[in-house]
Amino acid sequence: KKAQQEERRGLPARTRDGHTVEIGANVNRPDQVAMALSQGGEGVGLMRTEFLFLERGDAPSEEEQYETYRAMLEALDGRPLIVRALDIGGDKQVPHLQLPHEENPFLGVRGARLLLRHPELLEPQLRALYRAAKGAKPGALLIMFPMITTLREIETLRAVCDRIRAELDAPAVPLGIMVEVPAAAIQADMLARHVDFFSIGTNDLTQYALAIDRQHPELAAEADSLHPSVLRLIRMTVDGAEKHGRWVGVCGGIAGDPFGAALLAGLGVRELSMTPRDIPGVKDRLRDSDLAGLQDLARRALDCDSSDEVRALEGGAS
Ligand code: PEP
Ligand code: MG
Repeated sequence: KKAQQEERRGLPARTRDGHTVEIGANVNRPDQVAMALSQGGEGVGLMRTEFLFLERGDAPSEEEQYETYRAMLEALDGRPLIVRALDIGGDKQVPHLQLPHEENPFLGVRGARLLLRHPELLEPQLRALYRAAKGAKPGALLIMFPMITTLREIETLRAVCDRIRAELDAPAVPLGIMVEVPAAAIQADMLARHVDFFSIGTNDLTQYALAIDRQHPELAAEADSLHPSVLRLIRMTVDGAEKHGRWVGVCGGIAGDPFGAALLAGLGVRELSMTPRDIPGVKDRLRDSDLAGLQDLARRALDCDSSDEVRALEGGAS
């Protein structure tokens, strides 16, 4: 029985009509990789590198970061690793960095905005990553930047990456952005030209689309990523990416919900990354579906007037 279960987890998330969705794990440490693979993870779709800073009292050096990325790549043995550049600010405060207090940190200097203002954080991380890329299987390492709002941010970050890559004589690494600010989703067709992939951070995209603090004690439960307005932003992102032949993933919490995953696949999302324990349920759900049914489900969800109505589609055709 256990062996059967393990075997099923190891199968790809391929629908009955042959459409495959890549399944990644959200994993932050090398020692968590084996567990993620045993759950059926096919790679790491989100490594939150803030945790390298949060689990200790100071910033890890370039050398320490390099060792960690190398260990991740080794544990993954050629499978893809998407490393997210530091996403500090908002809900991820790092006291020992002693950054200025902000009245409204979710709308402040966070993610890419912070990286661009702090080369002493950005550059050692990129150097560590490009050094790790030198020893990795080509294409196994991908880098993405959090909280991107404008094309200018992408251009500036790409220029820094290009310079560091040249300095280290390192191979090219695919560069992606997280789509978690509605502006980026709305302009996805324009941004897609300048990046290799998108990964939608539905946790933040939902909080910014609905204007609900994701940690609000009273309101957070209403910040439902299946709200039709969020689904429409996801659709815009997919449409924009497709115009330029780019792929779109989702690494927010809704990717690990079997119904959410079905809907996302129907919207054209190609990769889903989630907490390892959610992987078996998502794979089973997708393997029990037909792409045409999922696309029909997605079409109906986009026309719903609330997340309750979207969730009520569960149990209908898929
Ligand atoms: C997200 O915002 O959906 C996301 C994956 O990033 P985080 O939860 O780390 O902000
Ligand atoms: Mg986020």
